[in-house]
Amino acid sequence: MAHQGITGKHVMAMLLLSTILISLPVLNVTSYEPEMDLGVGVSIILMIGDGMGYEHIKMARWVEVGPGQNLTMDTFSYNWSATTYSADAAITDSAAAGTAIATGNKTNNGMVGMTPTNPDLLTILEIAESMGKATGLISTTRFNHATPAAFYANVEDRGYYTEITRQLVEEKDIEIVLSGGYTQMSSAQKSTMQSNGYTIVRNRAELDAVTSGKVLGLFADSYMTEELLRPLSTEPSLEEMTNKSLQILSQDSDGFFLMVEGGQIDWAGHDNDQVGVALETIAFDKAVNISLQYVQEHSDTILIVTSDHETGGLTVVSNILNDELPSESNTEADNRALREERAENVTVTWTSNDHTATPVPVFLYGNAFNDLPESYSIDNTHIFTMMRSYILGNPINVTDFTTPTTTTTTTTTTTTTTTTTTTTTSTSTTTTSTTITTTTTQTLPDPTLGYLLIGSLGAVVLIIVILMVLRKR
Ligand SMILES: [Zn+2]
Repeated sequence: MAHQGITGKHVMAMLLLSTILISLPVLNVTSYEPEMDLGVGVSIILMIGDGMGYEHIKMARWVEVGPGQNLTMDTFSYNWSATTYSADAAITDSAAAGTAIATGNKTNNGMVGMTPTNPDLLTILEIAESMGKATGLISTTRFNHATPAAFYANVEDRGYYTEITRQLVEEKDIEIVLSGGYTQMSSAQKSTMQSNGYTIVRNRAELDAVTSGKVLGLFADSYMTEELLRPLSTEPSLEEMTNKSLQILSQDSDGFFLMVEGGQIDWAGHDNDQVGVALETIAFDKAVNISLQYVQEHSDTILIVTSDHETGGLTVVSNILNDELPSESNTEADNRALREERAENVTVTWTSNDHTATPVPVFLYGNAFNDLPESYSIDNTHIFTMMRSYILGNPINVTDFTTPTTTTTTTTTTTTTTTTTTTTTSTSTTTTSTTITTTTTQTLPDPTLGYLLIGSLGAVVLIIVILMVLRKR
């Protein structure tokens, strides 16, 4: 009797303990509370030059400051690079790459915020929202285009613009949205946005006038105007949109997440338009400069500048340039004409009218990167890993960069297309296809949770063994 009584109490106690141990990590999975509140108040500025490879930056550098001089992007101490392949192709599109950066998941080209097996991926913007942070999206394209959409929408096809717009209007609460796309939103949807507290602005002066609150900027019917033709007095620059967003978002004491896209570098690449590449990348770099100044004054903010993929297989070849550089003493229009002239005098070669598999730059700025190597090769999904660590108040650690999981291995057809690009591209493609794996898992919110779960299960097994030993006695 005494022997049975002791065993019964043991069983009850062990069951209770096991339940607590198992439930601990599960509770953590469903909430995004930062450990010890360290993530409260911190902010992230993520900047994506769509289609911007190293040579696009070189083109901008030669035109704006001359070879051997520095753009803002060139001054960052942490100069990493990232692979960009998608789940079903060696060469990604902006939807899959945007999803990788926004959610940490590899998906098929064309898919936004989802994989074939997970229709609702959690984005870094949504994590920020759930922590009470203010959020913002800026793009020189349209708010419902692939890159900005990857931060808030879940659709099977990036072309489902109506559905992407519906999700933004009806399901999201993003404080600042600045882009083109006036005719992409119905009158009823604009009224909904206004009743949800948004001030709708349509030009540079109206944007200038807002100083707080939620802002929806729709500066063109569809895409914003390319930099070469932008009406300088009425349509805001990427730099101005970034500056205004930082002024407003920084008023939230919980911190903020802001994504800024230079969306038309890619289009200039598709068109093999060297003037366009120079002007769009220079405009992007000026927005980077505004963000850098902000982070230098705010130690609780990190700045990540990257690209979703390279476009055009660009190589900048020779530098026969005229002497006169753009300068602050010139008018904006004069500087633009100078840039156009200088860009036309650069000799370049193109190997593609499409995206390539060349790794893209990742420039990092902020105290959170202090213990990390100055150069490092990562995958684009690790940009999400870094942002999540930072926003949850955890240190950014390169050991967290696990091999990304993908859904399929059908890389053979697309690999052949990269042979038209540079030698480095082909090399990286080969490595890429070998690292693709076949399983599909939604990444756990925190890498330590997996260990906790294994630990808990181990404890349960140990308890059962002890009980069996006691019973045998
Ligand atoms: Zn493109």
